[in-house]
Parts: sequence; C-alpha cells; structure tokens
Amino acid sequence: MKYLSTRDKSVRLSAAEAIKMGLSRDGGLLTPETVPTMGEAFLQSLISAPYPVRAAKVMALYLDDYTEKELLSFAEGAYGADRFDTPAAAPLRKLDDSTYCLELWHGPTSAFKDMALQMLPRLLSAALEKTGEDKTACILVATSGDTGKAAMEGFADVPRTSIMVFYPKDGVSEIQEAQMVTQEGANVGVCAVVGNFDDAQAGVKRIFSDEAIRETLDRRGVFLSSANSINWGRILPQIVYYVSAYCDLLRDGAISMGGKVNFCVPTGNFGDILAAYYAKRMGLPVGKLICASNKNNILTDFLRTGVYDRNRAFYTTMSPSMDILVSSNLERLLYDLSGENDAEVRGYMDALSRTGKYEVSESIKAALDGLYWGGYCGERGTSDAIGRYWRGYGYLIDTHTAVAADVLEQYRAATGDRTVSVFASTASPYKFCDSVLSAIGQTPQGAGVGLLEQLHDTTGTPIPSRLAALKGKKRRFDLSAEKSGMDKVVLDFLK
Ligand SMILES: *Cc1c(COP(=O)(O)O)cnc(C)c1O
Repeated sequence: MKYLSTRDKSVRLSAAEAIKMGLSRDGGLLTPETVPTMGEAFLQSLISAPYPVRAAKVMALYLDDYTEKELLSFAEGAYGADRFDTPAAAPLRKLDDSTYCLELWHGPTSAFKDMALQMLPRLLSAALEKTGEDKTACILVATSGDTGKAAMEGFADVPRTSIMVFYPKDGVSEIQEAQMVTQEGANVGVCAVVGNFDDAQAGVKRIFSDEAIRETLDRRGVFLSSANSINWGRILPQIVYYVSAYCDLLRDGAISMGGKVNFCVPTGNFGDILAAYYAKRMGLPVGKLICASNKNNILTDFLRTGVYDRNRAFYTTMSPSMDILVSSNLERLLYDLSGENDAEVRGYMDALSRTGKYEVSESIKAALDGLYWGGYCGERGTSDAIGRYWRGYGYLIDTHTAVAADVLEQYRAATGDRTVSVFASTASPYKFCDSVLSAIGQTPQGAGVGLLEQLHDTTGTPIPSRLAALKGKKRRFDLSAEKSGMDKVVLDFLK
C-alpha cells in the first residue's frame, strides 16, 4: 500500500518511507491510499487475543512492507511489562451499563501518547533498515506537554536517532516540565520556547521546510523526521485501541457483534479522534464520533458551521495538551471527505495560512454532520466533572478526560442517544495534581511533584511509579529560546 500527500497525490511513498519522513515535502500529510476493511471474522479473531496480537494484526493491514511477525515483536516490546503497568495496555473501565472509559495512560509517561510513541521508534528503526538509509534521523518535536516526554522516552538511546523537543515555556504543567527536563539518554535535547504550542509547532514546521537547514544537516549525515501526530506511525497504533475497546466490550458481553459504540475523545491536534475515524472507516461498528474540546473550542465551531477560523483568542487552560488552535490532523480527514481531492485540500490549507480561515464545501459539511458531534467544556465545567466523577463513581480522572466525560453528558442530553459510549482517558490524574486536588475540594499544599503524595493520601489511588521516581531526579536541561532562535538550537544540537 502506498502513502500519498494530502496536498499532492502524485507523491507516492511506501509505508517505511512515509514513517521515515513524517511529513511530505510539500507540507501535506502522508496518508494511506486506501483504507483496509475488517470484517466480523477479523474482529472475532481478536476477542481473546492479547493486546500485542491485536496491535500486530491491525497494523499489518496498513504496513505491507513489515511482516506481521515483525510487528508482533515490536508490539510485545512496546506494550511489555517493563513499560506498561497492565497487560491489557489499554483497559476499559465500566462506569455504568452504557458508559465506559478507555484508559490510555498505563505506559511509562502516564499519558496516551505512549500508546503510539512506544511503537513509533521501533517502526522508524526498521524503516531505516528497509529503505537502506545511511543517515541518522533527528526527530524534531513540538509538544503541548505530553508528546515531548513520551517521544523522548521512546527514542532515548535508540541507535541512529536523536530527538530534540520544544515546549511552550509557560504552557505545560510542572510535572510535565519535570518529566522532560530530567529525561535521560545521550541522544535527547529539550528547549523551552517563549510562546504557546502553536508557536512551537509553527517553528518546527518551518525548520522542516527550510532548504538551507536541510542541506547543512545533510552534510552532517542527518535528516529530520517527526514524531508529532502528523507522522502516520503515530496515528496507526492509535487505531488499535479503538478496535481493542470494541473487542473488550464484545468479550464482556456489553454489546453483541455489529452493535454500535460511540467514542468521545478529548481533542487537540485531532490525531486521536482521527484514529477513531479510521477505525470506523475500516468497518468497526462506530456510531457517533464525539469531539470534545476545552475552552479553545475552535473544533466545536468548525463541526457546527464548517468554518475553521483561528483568528481568535488562545487560552491557557488546565488541560494544556488540548490548548491548540491549528489541529494538523484535520487535513487528513478533509482529504478523505473531499473524495481525495488534493487540490481542494491545498486550497483550504493555503487559505488557512493566508487568512487564518477556511470554509469547507457543502458536501464535506454534510459528511461531518453525519459522523461527528462537537462540544466543549470550559474551566469550571472541567473542574466540576472531576469532582462529580470522584464523588459519583469513586473514579479519579484528569483534566483532559474530564472534558470528554462532560461533553459526552452534553451530547446525551442534547440528542437522547443511549448508544453504549466510550470516552477516552488520555492522562493519569497524577500529571495534573494541582487542578485535580482543587477539583475534589482539597487545597493543594505545595507544587509540582510535591503534590503527588497529597493526591495519593487524599484519594488512596496509586501514584504511577515513574512519576513517584521524579522526586529528587536531577534537572539535565535548562535551555530556552525565542521562536526565531529555534533554528540555531537545532543546528547546535546536531553539531
Ligand atoms: C495529546 C493529548 C490530547 C489530544 O490528543 P490529539 O491527538 O492531539 O487530539 C488529549 N489529552 C492528552 C492528555 C494529551 O496528551
């Protein structure tokens, strides 16, 4: 199967090449030329399979230049007991007969990014082999908090790779920052950027498209690649857990084969919910895709009006990984919904970069309407939802998950739809102790890692062991730069 650029269909790459490059040279996103299908027999065969087998079988449908055996060995490594604290990797938690929570934070950095970023380095290393690449891959990452740490954890000391992470200086939680600046590994670098996530992401995208930097690095035997969710190797492992959740519901008798399930996803860059869309396109019986935003509700507006308009205030919220105004992965959806019309997508993206705004066609609007429901939850609502779930279910959720939980309730109130629904839980509450403690009526005593114990003592829930280990870890990085200085940071890092 080939991978095409959303902005130019004549760009055709193998899966290994697409994963190696991350982003197409024309700025487009590399996207599979066809969507494979899963029948009932396929799903049936996964019901009693362990998570790594589910992962290998689903991923093999897209990666025909990797063998299923190879993929299984990657998945067993990625989701093994030294990395994930449960063999289920992505367990479902039942709240009531029609409401489940898909816990995606059992990996090494306690955020859902691990689901893909434990897999991507393995896919990329194999891609270097498969394509006969002799250069070193440098992964450039712009992070709103969770991707950076998860990517470094995945790539640390992986041969023939290095990784440089940029995060917004005041846009991440103290625990997130502590996780990043204490990262071990000889091939990692971290830099704070003065600005917000969109500034960091724009800086990284610009470096990618800079010919002069490319040539300089080429002479040094290095090429740039991406671990952001623009890389197909990020989206694909995320499709797996939607399929896995469906299989778990079948196994537990919550639904029968063919029964529909809604997914509600706390959304930022549109990667996670795009993976759910692909699962649906592959034949998974999915009802509505419910797109949950925080106060930065650009996607809610887009899904309701068909107008994407980033000319608006940017808010820093208690769910920082969703503080995004340009959701890159929407481009893949537009490509698919436009009937793979690369010229149309190019038009939208040109308008976005020229005017900060575009309006999709009537046919895309109609398609969006059938597939999605968009809603948002502000700061107060997020905090209230954490308190409500703690008191009502004895279930402690983080600030991002709370947005999804609340928007799912809004959706049900607005539509009366009682279909079995799963909301994604994307981070451990221990990554956001401060907001979570306040939400359950406690006064935080201290800051950062100092709050882990308090949340544990108050709720009796376990502290993820790697977060507990942050206490007393030495800070290794103290670099910061203006947006305009990011080039130099990259060039110095790769000296
Ligand atoms: C990244 C992230 C999100 C948003 O996911 P996207 O794929 O960017 O839409 C939501 N919650 C948490 C905790 C995250 O780290």
